[in-house]
This record gives sequence, C-alpha cells and structure tokens, in this order.
Amino acid sequence: MRKTLLFGPVKSRRLRRSLGIEMVPRKVCTMDCIYCEVGKTILHTSERKDYYTWDLIEKSILEAKEKEEIFDVFTFTGSGEPTLNIHFEKAVELSKKIINKPIAVLTNSTLLYIESIRKALAKVDIVLPSLDAVKEGSFRKINRALPEFKPEEIVKNLKKLREEMQGEMWLEVLIVEGINDNKEDLEALKKAIEEINPHKVQLNTVVRPAAYSIAKPVSFKKLQEIAKFWGNKVEIIVNKERLDKIIAIKQTLEKEKLEEEVINYVKRRPATLEELSQAFVLDEKAFQMLLDELLSQGKIQTTIHENKVYYIAN
Ligand code: SF4
Repeated sequence: MRKTLLFGPVKSRRLRRSLGIEMVPRKVCTMDCIYCEVGKTILHTSERKDYYTWDLIEKSILEAKEKEEIFDVFTFTGSGEPTLNIHFEKAVELSKKIINKPIAVLTNSTLLYIESIRKALAKVDIVLPSLDAVKEGSFRKINRALPEFKPEEIVKNLKKLREEMQGEMWLEVLIVEGINDNKEDLEALKKAIEEINPHKVQLNTVVRPAAYSIAKPVSFKKLQEIAKFWGNKVEIIVNKERLDKIIAIKQTLEKEKLEEEVINYVKRRPATLEELSQAFVLDEKAFQMLLDELLSQGKIQTTIHENKVYYIAN
C-alpha cells in the first residue's frame, strides 16, 4: 500500500524544483494521448471517485508542508488526470491553506465543465491546461478522448476558467508531426488561443518516449514558425539541441529500416528503380539516392536485362 502520493522534487524547466502530488494511479485518464509519456491509458474513464483516499491525500499534503524548503512549486500532476479524483477540490483547498509556496495544477481540461473544479482551479497560482487541437479529427487522433468530450466545449470552458482565475494560466500546446502541424489546425488553434486569452502559451513537441509510435516530433524550426504565427505570448518549452538530436536519431533509424527492407526486397527478386519506388511509395529521385548509397556500400549491385537496369542483392 502506498504511504505517500508525493514524488520529487523534480527539476522542471517551467516550474523549477517541483514537488508533485499524484491524485490518480497509473494510468487513469479521460484521454489516451498518443504522445503520453506515462504510457497507454489503462482506465479510460470520466468517472470521478476516490482513486486515492482522502486520508492518504491529506497525509501527503501535510508531508509536503514539512518539506517546504526543498521545492519551489507544489504541483498536482502525475500518472493521469488529477481532477478525476473526487477529493481534488478539497486537496487544492488544503494545499492553498497550509503550503507557503505556489500551487500549480496540470490538467487536460476535459473536466472544466464541472463548476467546483473550475472554482478550485481559479484559486491556484498556476494552471497548466493542455489543448492540442480544436479540429475534431485532429483532436480525436492526438488525444483519443472519450467521445463525450468535444474540443469546442473544452475551449469554452477554458475561456470561462480564464475569466474566473486569480492566478495565471499557461496553456500548453503539443505539436505532433503530420497531425496538428498543418495550416488549418494551426489557424484554428490560434483562434482558440485568442478566445481563451491565457497568460502564456507553452509550445511543445514529442521529446519524451511516447505511448504510441505514431507520435513524432516536429522540428525546432517548425516550432519557431508556429510561435511567430501565434504571437508574443508563445514560448517554446523544448530544448533545441535535445530536439535536433531526437530528430536525427529517428531519421537514422527510419533510413536504416528502409535500407533493410530494400535489401530484403531485391534479395527476393531483381527490381528496377521504377518498380522499387512504386513498391515503397517513394519519389524516384529520392529513391535513386538511396540506391546509389547502397551500391557504393556494396550492399546491392546492378545487372542489365533487356536494356533495363535491375538492382539485385550482393
Ligand atoms: S491527458 Fe495527460 S495523462 Fe492523460 S493521456 Fe494525455 S498526456 Fe497522458
């Protein structure tokens, strides 16, 4: 049985030394985001209940009070959506009352239609809600929220919360390659951001191990373009060097996988450039470069048959 719900403090770019409190076990959530660093959602639910008991929550908050000097921010976060715990409001109230450090809450914004949750959030120092897409199709692809949650409702409730808030709202938007990085999605998000009017917009991409392999990062340059398009409230919260390295590794792995598949293909039967580029659905020019590289490495060779160049395994 768990003795405490506290974890950390962890050093965070946004919240400095953050002591976390977990309100639900791994992984209870209203969403199943493809980029989630906690893993795939195990309990996909919107049911609010005591995922952890009030006794354990209270004990953990009292313990955090004792540790005040070792952290900068006390953060409700962890292995799922914290507002799903039925004691969330009471936990925020107690934390605000006894902890003399800023209180922050990370939320996926789905339960903001519940007035008592908004009231509790309105009193914390920093709310970090996420909003990755407002177009229905992209919202479903990235966040895989339960069907009852609609992006336009989430935007409406974020706007309401912002108007009721005493503290700050730092809205996090995570961009996934090929899903919400297109013109239409970015324009729709820009409009939603203007409506919500958060204090800051924190722009992120997939830099941590994701729950689903389809979640891929966009480049730092792309994030810069988006930041410019959305205006001066936006800050990129990704480290450029780290992101560049991740993209380089991913590209190498993808290229290595493709090379292996091409070699296996020509091992089975000789093929022309045209056949190969059709089989792998790739542009002939780009494919020629890959074949030239494999030729120079001696991994494949060519043979002429009826005036046509065929690639064969070495
Ligand atoms: S909302 Fe947060 S915890 Fe839930 S699946 Fe998405 S990233 Fe993970």
